[in-house]
Amino acid sequence: MGAPSIIDSIIQEVAKKTGLKLEITSKVRTPLEQAKAMYPHFETNSTTLNSYAAYKKEMLSQIRAAFELGKKNKESYEAIIERMTKVIQEQVDKNQLISNHLSNSARDIRTKNLSAEDLKLLLKELKSKRQIFVLDETKTVQPHIHIHLN
Ligand SMILES: [Zn+2]
Repeated sequence: MGAPSIIDSIIQEVAKKTGLKLEITSKVRTPLEQAKAMYPHFETNSTTLNSYAAYKKEMLSQIRAAFELGKKNKESYEAIIERMTKVIQEQVDKNQLISNHLSNSARDIRTKNLSAEDLKLLLKELKSKRQIFVLDETKTVQPHIHIHLN
């Protein structure tokens, strides 16, 4: 692990300032873990898919194509995950990262345990940090705040 990365230092800073106990639910992901994280979003055509930056649309459509081909062939969950993982791995090999979680520069913060007031405070503090991008994912099936280094 070594020294805490910049992003973890920022989280520690925000935790101290707000007095909130912040729980990290996702740090670095392998391509397999990334495929598993994306699968439910394709299955439900989640609005989360719209939050990908414009320059990631091509990467996203390649992964979606793998998902759709597997579905069309009536393949198992495992087989479809394998297809998606392969595409994500090929992208990583070309330094194309669909998610900042693939490079240890993103974190998800659990929000289920926070009151509306605490959540507001937390978002305000996070958004005051210029080094990070903040994505409010609290209205999704797995409520969390996603942050990554700019
Ligand atoms: Zn995230």
